[in-house]
Amino acid sequence: MSDQRHDTRFDRFVDSYAERTKGMRVSAVRALFAVANRPEIVSLAGGMPNIKDLPLESIASSMGQMVAENGTQVMQYGSGQGELQLREQILDVMALEGIQAHPDDIVITAGSQQGLDLVTRIFCDPGDVILAESPSYVGALGTFLSYQAEVVHVAGDDDGLDPEALRETSRRLKAEGKRIKFLYTIPNYSNPSGVTQPLERRRQVLEVCEAEQILLVEDNPYGLLSLDADPVPAMRSLDQNVIYLGSFSKTFAPGFRVGWVLAPHAVREKLVLAQESATLCPPVFSQFAVSNYLSNHDWKHQITVFKDMYRERRDAMLEELAEHMPDGATWTKPAGGFFVWVTLPEGIDSQAMLPRGVDARVAFVPGAAFYADGGGARNVRLSYCFPTADRIRLGVQRFADVIRNELEV
Ligand code: PMP
Repeated sequence: MSDQRHDTRFDRFVDSYAERTKGMRVSAVRALFAVANRPEIVSLAGGMPNIKDLPLESIASSMGQMVAENGTQVMQYGSGQGELQLREQILDVMALEGIQAHPDDIVITAGSQQGLDLVTRIFCDPGDVILAESPSYVGALGTFLSYQAEVVHVAGDDDGLDPEALRETSRRLKAEGKRIKFLYTIPNYSNPSGVTQPLERRRQVLEVCEAEQILLVEDNPYGLLSLDADPVPAMRSLDQNVIYLGSFSKTFAPGFRVGWVLAPHAVREKLVLAQESATLCPPVFSQFAVSNYLSNHDWKHQITVFKDMYRERRDAMLEELAEHMPDGATWTKPAGGFFVWVTLPEGIDSQAMLPRGVDARVAFVPGAAFYADGGGARNVRLSYCFPTADRIRLGVQRFADVIRNELEV
């Protein structure tokens, strides 16, 4: 297909691509989708939220009403910062994680992915350093690399980012004359590790950021999907200088592409300019739709429905891992979100193992996708958000068999 569509007349322009395209990588997760979607394969690869429990009929009817009441305003250009009513409602969402803010400090974005793009756009010149947890969200790494930033990973453990490693890394890079632009972290139920930073760790990380003068970017799409204890307060609730990225993709639906950035006032102004140059304004219809959903539906109850479903799936995955994984393998025990991070027995390369996994009808994401520096060879990200508990059990059994076969070779 792609060969047939290859237009050789364009070959003379190949040198025209900007330098920054060289940093753009094919998403390992997206490349897997085609294979993982085959019905015989249990996909523990994708991170798609399972939104089948949304009350579709009442959403459809209240959205019809929304168009009738607001007319063409919902289809018109809007503010570069985003609709005020939605920004006010977002305050209620963030209050659940202890954040107090002003609606004027929020910029609506097309998903938090666009928030990542805008933040990188306003802070990073080519060669600037962005610090990121190890491992880190593949979509963020792609954005950082597309702006030609140098991503440096900071070690972590079962409590997330290690503050001492952060301090050492910062000092080392500064001694080398490098400019660190920000630290990117996912403190709640991280994608891909599933790890959560306890409150004390958050404080320590913020102290190091303060001492080393590092701006902190907190990405929190999973924060409200706590499956056990109450969520830990957001880092932004502990420090107003944190730039916070939020999203409705996991608490409502990703297709609307509505997220937001909460930022100190000066940063917020630059973000609005960047948003205007990127898209003029965030999608107006989607903002009205999300606002309408928040006003007319019991969104907090809906989140508990989602959480009950994800809890059952998470438990199925952890039970099955405990029962079937061979010695030498370890994995995280997420208290929320979508992901488990597996460390394979020594000597196994997850990327090399993937084709054998697909042959055994199970898909997963090799850990290398979540590193910008070649790390993650012994790791795998498994997700429990989309398949049913029964399929997850089957998938984990197949996965464990694949590993066992690797050990025997
Ligand atoms: N950050 C993290 C950690 C994510 O896992 C995702 C989605 N997979 C995003 C940001 C982007 O989410 P969205 O653009 O849908 O809000």
